[in-house]
Amino acid sequence: MESVIEHVDKAVEERWRRYLMGEDPAPRSWRSVWSKLPRAPRCELCAVPFGGPFAPALRMLGRKRFARNPRYCDFCVGRLVQGQGGAEIEMSALFADVRGSVPMAEQLGRPARNGSSTASIPRASMFLPRAEP
Ligand SMILES: [Zn+2]
Repeated sequence: MESVIEHVDKAVEERWRRYLMGEDPAPRSWRSVWSKLPRAPRCELCAVPFGGPFAPALRMLGRKRFARNPRYCDFCVGRLVQGQGGAEIEMSALFADVRGSVPMAEQLGRPARNGSSTASIPRASMFLPRAEP
């Protein structure tokens, strides 16, 4: 059986692998720069501040909260969408099954699309690496 990843451009795959493994120095460098500016809350990927004195200027540069998931900035989500692809990497994951969550989810039904959240973005963001400031 042929792997889906075999169809991904090898350069794109390598770029994603380096990013996901933390081997790409550019995101770390920019994260270090943004971390020095005050203040929280920050984009969880690049650490650009959403508050503080630099926030208005950063918003003008496209570093504002992504409307559909305010944990990330528009710039980071835009880069992720532009760089569609992926890489196979080893990872560990912990899944928690909360007692009663299935009946509760069935009772609540599908999440409403009201602009503040979506079903797909939060689910996909669970797999993004969480960098430390
Ligand atoms: Zn960001």
